[in-house]
This record gives sequence, structure tokens and C-alpha cells, in this order.
Amino acid sequence: MGSGQKRGGSKIYILYVSVMDLKKISLWLEEAGQPKFRLKQITDAVYKKGAATFDEITALPEPLRNAIKEKFRILAIEPETILESRAGDAVKGSFWLKDKQKIESVLLNLFPGKWSICVSTQVGCPVQCVFCATGRRGLKRNLSPDEIVSQYIFWANYLKKYRPGEKIGGVVYMGMGEPFLNYEAVAESLKVLTDPGLIGLGDRHISVSTVGHVPGIRRFAKDFPQVNLAVSLHAVDNELRSTLVPLNDKYPLDQISKALKDYIYTTKRKVFIEYVMLGGINDSQSCARRLTDWLKSVAAPKYFTVNIIPYNQTDREYKAPTKERVEAFSNLLLTLNTSATVRKSLGSDIAGACGQLAGK
Ligand code: SAH
Ligand code: SF4
Repeated sequence: MGSGQKRGGSKIYILYVSVMDLKKISLWLEEAGQPKFRLKQITDAVYKKGAATFDEITALPEPLRNAIKEKFRILAIEPETILESRAGDAVKGSFWLKDKQKIESVLLNLFPGKWSICVSTQVGCPVQCVFCATGRRGLKRNLSPDEIVSQYIFWANYLKKYRPGEKIGGVVYMGMGEPFLNYEAVAESLKVLTDPGLIGLGDRHISVSTVGHVPGIRRFAKDFPQVNLAVSLHAVDNELRSTLVPLNDKYPLDQISKALKDYIYTTKRKVFIEYVMLGGINDSQSCARRLTDWLKSVAAPKYFTVNIIPYNQTDREYKAPTKERVEAFSNLLLTLNTSATVRKSLGSDIAGACGQLAGK
């Protein structure tokens, strides 16, 4: 179970058994002759209060803390660098995984006193959308449920230490990777996030964003009907969409349309449509009109909110749309009865905005 890692010249041995391996911990506690309530003390401290090390769990007697930390660790990820944006409204973390891969995760301040956590689900991404930095080098591997939940625990701990009193308002699965290409681990992590006995976040405070993986949308409708679904659409004609999102060849727009119809029919939930806006490519008035027509062919406008995400710079040659184009696009959507918001680009100075996470 142990693994050694060289960092800065000194060797650190880490036992990569996270606290989410609750069965193992429970067995260990039993063998150590500890009372049953210890497990609950640990899970409450970690999941409800954001303890990231056993030293922080002061409800445990000190000798127990010392013994347990020899065997287990809480986080399955290890922070490398933490960068705060100049405006203080975004914090990006880069983390080592046990096999020396790296991921990034972001803490975003969307409302005063309320933060949102943006989690990664894969190291890299196999989809390779042309405007996204994550997909640049393809997929390295899927994250485990522990590695996903650890991102939440890390940021809960960070807030407790550096922004005491401020709260986590929600979690968005919009970091590195395509969540539905790692469905099992994402589902496991969602269970931990929403289980009232563990983290206990409300389903509606969580959003999962997919590039339009049709089987994933169908499964998600059954498994998590109350968790928000966001679909990254970007274009409503197959030719253009396929040039931006290679997975469109496998799951073209008519299949996405059918999956969304069924999703809305069974869940009665609204769907968030993500629309990365690229200057001169999908930012025209006729694109806005076609988008509303397409959405109306799927379901009534009340079932959609379009989030326009002006392109954030990556190493590709795309341009951000002008402010005027973004405004004109969103105004036309509103005139055509489709609710639309423009995503603020938090964290672009720390390469922590949508599509900039590369895990370099
Ligand atoms: N793979 C999923 C979730 C992660 S990407 C998906 O594609 O939906 C999260 C969001 O960031 C998506 O809506 C994606 O389209 C957007 N995004 C990717 N690259 C971007 C860029 N360079 N600028 C702005 N948004 C980008
Ligand atoms: Fe993958 Fe989403 Fe980036 Fe596309 S936008 S490459 S699906 S992470």
C-alpha cells in the first residue's frame, strides 16, 4: 500500500489509503479496540467539517490520532501549488496524484460569502475539443471517487483555514475531463457528496457538465434526476459542432436532442446549456436564432438556461468574442424567450477559468 515519492530531494512515504476506504478504517479501529462511535467522529470531522489531516480531528484522543495517521491519510491528492487570483474571487490548486499525475481544481467565489468548487474527473480528456486546454494531450487516466471527493475536502479545509465563516454553496463537475466517460467514479463521488450521513450537499447544489455523451445523459436521468445537468452545446449544426467537438461524430445533435427530450420528460428538470463563444465562429445573430429554434424543438424555453462562456485564452488560435457580440447574442436569446446568462471569467489570470485547466 505504501508508495515513496521524491520531492525536493527528501523522500516522503505516503500510505494512499484515504478515509473513504471506510471499511478498512472501521476494521482497523475495531482491531485497535476502539469504540464504534470513533468512525462517526472521523467521518463527521472529514465530511462535515473539512478536516484534511488526523491532527485536526481533536475529538480523537491524541495517541489514537498518532496511531491512525501512521496507517491512513485523508486526502487522496497532495497539493502542489495554490494560486489566488488578483481579484481574490478564484483559487486554483494543482495536485499530485499517487502515480505522479497532476490535476487541477478551482474554488470560485460566485456570491459574497459563498463559494463553488469546480472538480476534475479525469487526468486530461479524451474528447479533445479544439478550444480546450484540458484535452490537448489526450486522456492519461480516470480519477477514482476518492480523488474526486478529495478535491471537495481540500477546498472545504482551505475555506475553514483562510476564509472562516464562508460557505460552500455548490460543486460543479466542470474541471478537467468528461464526467460521463468516467461514469462509475463520478456516480460514487456524487453519492458521497449528497449522502446526508456524509457530506450531505443538496442535489440541486451540484451540477454535472457533459460534452453531450448521450448514454451518460440517459443513465444520469435515472440515477441522479435531482442533480443539475449542463450540456456543452456550442453549436446546433453538425458540421460546425463536429469541428469543435470531435465526439459530435459519435453522438450527433439529433441524438443529443432525443436524449434531452427524454431527460426533461422523465425528470421535469431544467437543463443548463453551456455555449463557449468563439469570436467569428459561433457568435452571430443567426447562430443565436438557430440555437433558440433548436432548443424549442427539444422542449419549451422554460426548460433551458443558456450559459454563454466567452472563450478563455488557451494556446489555440481562437479569439474571444467582442463584448458587443456577447451582449447582442444574449439579448437576442432573451428576446426570443430563452433565458441566458454570461459566465464571468473568474480566475483567468491564474489560468483557472473554464477550459484553461491543463494539469501541466
Ligand atoms: N467535459 C465537460 C466538463 C468540463 S469542461 C464539458 O465539456 O462539458 C467545462 C466547460 O468549460 C465546458 O462547458 C467547456 O465547453 C468549457 N470550456 C472548455 N474550454 C474553454 C475555453 N477555452 N474557454 C471557455 N470555456 C471553455
Ligand atoms: Fe474534454 Fe470538456 Fe475540454 Fe471537451 S471541453 S476537451 S469534453 S474537458
